[in-house]
Formats: sequence, C-alpha cells, structure tokens
Amino acid sequence: MLVYHKVDPKAELGLTCVHPDTFEKQIAFLTSEGYQMVTLSDLRLNGNNKRIAICFDDGYQDVYDYAFPVLQKYSAVATVFIIVDYIGKENTWDVNIGGIRYRHLDEDSIHKLVESGWEIGSHSMSHRPQRFTGRREMEFELGQSKKILETKFKQIVTAYAPPFGIVTRCIYDYAFSTGYQNICGFFPFRYYAASKPKKSEILRLAVYRTDSLASIKRKLSEGNNLYCEVLKQNVVNFCSNATLAVNSLR
Ligand SMILES: [Zn+2]
Repeated sequence: MLVYHKVDPKAELGLTCVHPDTFEKQIAFLTSEGYQMVTLSDLRLNGNNKRIAICFDDGYQDVYDYAFPVLQKYSAVATVFIIVDYIGKENTWDVNIGGIRYRHLDEDSIHKLVESGWEIGSHSMSHRPQRFTGRREMEFELGQSKKILETKFKQIVTAYAPPFGIVTRCIYDYAFSTGYQNICGFFPFRYYAASKPKKSEILRLAVYRTDSLASIKRKLSEGNNLYCEVLKQNVVNFCSNATLAVNSLR
C-alpha cells in the first residue's frame, strides 16, 4: 500500500511533494507492471498481490487537481484521508517550508471524488499529534471526525490514519471500538522478526520525492526488499518526529 501527500508542481523543500509528471510516470509504471489500483476497503475485502491501494494523506486540493485526472486515465481509484477542520482551508497546521502554503480539498471536490468511486478516511479533526491524547480529545479527533465525514459525504468511514502515523495501543483500541476497521500507521517494528501486524493494522509506505520506479516496486514487494523500504521510512519518520519534538519545545 502506498501513501502520497502532495502531488503538486509547486514544490516545497520537504520530501513529500511529488511533481504531477512524476506521479503520472509512477502510475503508468504500476499499470504496466499489472497492478490494479483499488480503494483500501476493496483491497481488504478482495486482496491479491496484484491489487494495491494508493492513499493520499492530508487531503490536499492538488489531489483533485492533479492526481485524480491521472488515476482516472488509468481507470484507478484511491483513498484520501481528510483533516476535517481543514476542509477548504490552507495547511496552517503544518510547518511552513519556504513560505509555501497548500490548500486542502474543498467539499465539492471531495463529493466528486466520492462520486467517482474514491474512499474517504479520517485523518483526525486537527492533525495534532495524538501520542499523549486523553479520552475526550480522542473522542473528538477520532469519533467526531468519523461522524462529520459520514454525514457530509454519505459514506461509511472505516479507515483512520492518525497524524504522523503514530499509533499507540490506546489509539488503536479506541479507533477499533469507534468502528474503524483499518488503522493505518507506520508500525516501525511490525514488519520485522516475530512482531507481525494484526489484520486491522495497515502498513502504508510513503512515496517520497526521491523515490525511483525501482524503489516503488520494492515497497510493494515482500521480504528483504520490503524491509529495506520500511527501514528507510523509519529513518525519515524518526527525523520528522525529532523535528516535531524540537518545535514543541520552542
Ligand atoms: Zn498528515
């Protein structure tokens, strides 16, 4: 399972913005390799090693403007994780790299994605990190976001992607008891040794600006090739979590 963030010609300094031309090359490559791109729920119901799910975290407007037409061209659908408080707004929750702001999907665009067969998942209300979140805040971030998305877009929301991929035991249990069936996170140690993931724990590997077609293929494979990509992602996440910690101390 692959996760993108921004697909935008307006590049920032970070790793998570992929140019639309690069995105198209990647989708064309995946199609030529025989992969069929379906929604996360569809994949969970009918999985095989040639079916994959493309996800987009944060729900930027560029997903509609650039990624959606490409996926339509290749008869593919995807899953987008929405930050409910930021629908139609700029990403003021994020660090502002190089003074560039990105707009989040507005309601109209989300409706059109849903009508085209896309799945929506929750990426919380506020995108605040939830490592030490109390019960009330958890109800707000997970429960409320699910209810609002379901009411607005008339789709049952079964997937939750916590901000920054952080899944604690508490978040996992709460998400599950709230009706989420697919909990997406980075699970840094789940793919090594004896610590295998549970059925509802979904590992998604992020596609970065620096990824090649070969590294994308490794992310979809098994064994050592996959572990190598998981390790790369763990390093990037460790660095971004360290940035988060430093920022919160300022
Ligand atoms: Zn996010």
